[in-house]
Amino acid sequence: MQKPFQTEVGQMLDLVIHSLYSKKEVFLRELLSNASDAIDRARFEALTDKSKEADSPYRIQIVPNKEAGTLSICDNGVGMTAEEAEKNLGTVASSGTKRFLQAMKEKAGAPELIGQFGVGFYAAFMVADKVDVLSRRRGEKPVLWSSDGKGTYEISDGDPDAADGTTIVLHMRDDAKEYLDDWRIEDIVRTYSDYIAYPVMLNPDPSAKPRTRKNDKGEEETVPPPEPRQLNSMKAIWKKSKSEATKEETDAFYKHVAHDHEEPLATIRVSAEGATEFQALVFIPRTAPYDLFYPNARQGLQLYVRNVFIGDDVKELLPRYLSFVRGVVESADLPLNVSREMLQDDAVVRRMRKVLVGKILGEIEDMQKNRPDDFRVFSAQYGRLVKEGARADWENSERLRELAVFPSTFSEDAAKPVTLAEYVSRMKDGQKDIWYLAADSFEAAKNSPVLEAFAKRGWEVLFFLDPVDEFFAEAVPEYKDRKLRAADRGELDLDGAAEDAGKEGEKKEDGGKDGGKKDADAEKFAPLVDFLSKRFEKTVKTVRLSRRLVESACCFVADEHGVSAHMQRVLKAFNQPVPESPRILELNPASPLVEKALGLAAAGKDSEGALADLADLLYGEAQLAEGSPLDNPARFNSLVNAFAAR
Ligand code: ADP
Repeated sequence: MQKPFQTEVGQMLDLVIHSLYSKKEVFLRELLSNASDAIDRARFEALTDKSKEADSPYRIQIVPNKEAGTLSICDNGVGMTAEEAEKNLGTVASSGTKRFLQAMKEKAGAPELIGQFGVGFYAAFMVADKVDVLSRRRGEKPVLWSSDGKGTYEISDGDPDAADGTTIVLHMRDDAKEYLDDWRIEDIVRTYSDYIAYPVMLNPDPSAKPRTRKNDKGEEETVPPPEPRQLNSMKAIWKKSKSEATKEETDAFYKHVAHDHEEPLATIRVSAEGATEFQALVFIPRTAPYDLFYPNARQGLQLYVRNVFIGDDVKELLPRYLSFVRGVVESADLPLNVSREMLQDDAVVRRMRKVLVGKILGEIEDMQKNRPDDFRVFSAQYGRLVKEGARADWENSERLRELAVFPSTFSEDAAKPVTLAEYVSRMKDGQKDIWYLAADSFEAAKNSPVLEAFAKRGWEVLFFLDPVDEFFAEAVPEYKDRKLRAADRGELDLDGAAEDAGKEGEKKEDGGKDGGKKDADAEKFAPLVDFLSKRFEKTVKTVRLSRRLVESACCFVADEHGVSAHMQRVLKAFNQPVPESPRILELNPASPLVEKALGLAAAGKDSEGALADLADLLYGEAQLAEGSPLDNPARFNSLVNAFAAR
């Protein structure tokens, strides 16, 4: 019966078939990887159910047939029922497919991406114009799935004598006949699939004509067909030392476990001895997995116990904040029949996890110290998770704090962030605290009026541009005895904060601890402050004179314990309840505009209209400066126009 592919599969096949791609050879890697996974599963099932043990040793066979123009890949793994074949090969369960299609379109047909999204089987259509899949799940009826990759597939009963497992027959395209040559097959398997844990056998071409040769006596004799031979070394790559495994081989293994097409950013080998014995080979991908922040994202490592595959995506082996790490762990200490449930609270797993976390953090620290370009890539991809880790993993919080980076007033651009250690190392004399400003963008932060007083003193301010940054500051209120403080929160008294820097010229200039001037200013500006307090009583909790402004006329700040404007916007964006956080309007007593408003306030009733206009203008300015939308854009524009026309 002919059935149409799910729409997405059809689109994908179109892309696969029509893409001109020089590395078509990866089709074999994908099919061998599927065969190896199928044997892993069969082997795992047989662990708990003796009746499912295979009749013959596990192996994968490759059979070229030049006469028929076919290449067959045959495994004795779990196999598929008709329903499974239909579901696995006719539809794509993962939402990754749509993203795959998107990525293919953006990168104008780059089939390296095949496999990254779990669509490896379809790579067969790069080299074949027809694919037959004969499969049998143990004890079930065999099924034959067949397709030319042009929109439909056919499902029918398979040969009743079929053995357990799966045979995939590729009817090779004319331009792909090279893959029927022994040497070519051998070359591909060596390059990409040497680590596969089962023998990958090359069987002789059944269509090959018997060859004859002359023997010593000059008589004609036929040469017997070659024996099947094993192409892969099978040595589990995670058991090889760095010098034993080539980079090519290690990278190929990474691409296999991570479904990635790039080389990894970091490769980490672990060989633990003593109380907990295990080997691991794990990687940090160069690009974060697309689903990294999705709740159901793929997470965890492959687990083997004494050479037996136990499971994929074993979450228990890594904390959530390292969910981007891919790879494999093999333990000698776990029982073979270990179940997923057992893994959750197992002392051996906990010990392995601890060692793994330590090694991974060590590698990142090494990157930070010795490979700054790689560390920059790392921070851009995973910096947010490092900060989460500093909150969640108390045991390693100190180490993770050193890895957290933020752009700052000293960064050329957002891509050149700084560490807390760098910040502290260049703090100015008398500066006690670490200052930050939360904002939506680097530009908005850099131009915030709130920073004027800091700039004047040459004090650095960190920019919190990621929503997690403020949570980070909550969980990590201090770094090396320096408090993390928001530049736009509470009453700012940088001179108080700089008490010890008594000799700085700056201080005398702006009146520093001259409380007398402060009081005099307060008295002088009282009429304006009173007017504004009344006019904006619904939205503004307090109006006061500012110590943080130098150029600008006014700005909004949050209460010492209030929620910043940035956080309010973040919460709103995530549909979270936004706590009431009354704003504080601060005025710069040195601003000519504020002086002018004071003049109008002092003039009394006659100038009340003009004062109201100026007040609304100031209010709008403060809103814009903190990145909030204007309450009334139309009125603001007409006020600006009116003032400009004067
Ligand atoms: P992936 O292997 O990444 O899941 P594929 O498109 O390569 O994606 O394969 C889809 C599914 O088809 C597999 O997940 C598996 O369930 C099934 N499958 C493919 N090849 C085999 C095989 N040789 N034996 C058993 N099942 C297979």
